[in-house]
Amino acid sequence: MSQSSTPQQDKGSDRLPCLYCGETYGPDDLERHTAPVHCGPCITCVDKPACFSCRLMYCVCDVHRYRG
Ligand SMILES: [Zn+2]
Ligand SMILES: [Zn+2]
Ligand SMILES: [Zn+2]
Repeated sequence: MSQSSTPQQDKGSDRLPCLYCGETYGPDDLERHTAPVHCGPCITCVDKPACFSCRLMYCVCDVHRYRG
């Protein structure tokens, strides 16, 4: 995937928005947004990173369960 559009670029930061939550993250949060979590029986969110919010109503994952 290559994005040709270049919105406002902050000098000195090459931060990218997260694929899953849309937040822009830096090195500190890299793991939270990229490291897969083997959470359990919910097939919707298994192996998604911790920042992912599962919108499945019956999701039982502690990490992914959507908190409104
Ligand atoms: Zn994220
Ligand atoms: Zn999950
Ligand atoms: Zn889930």
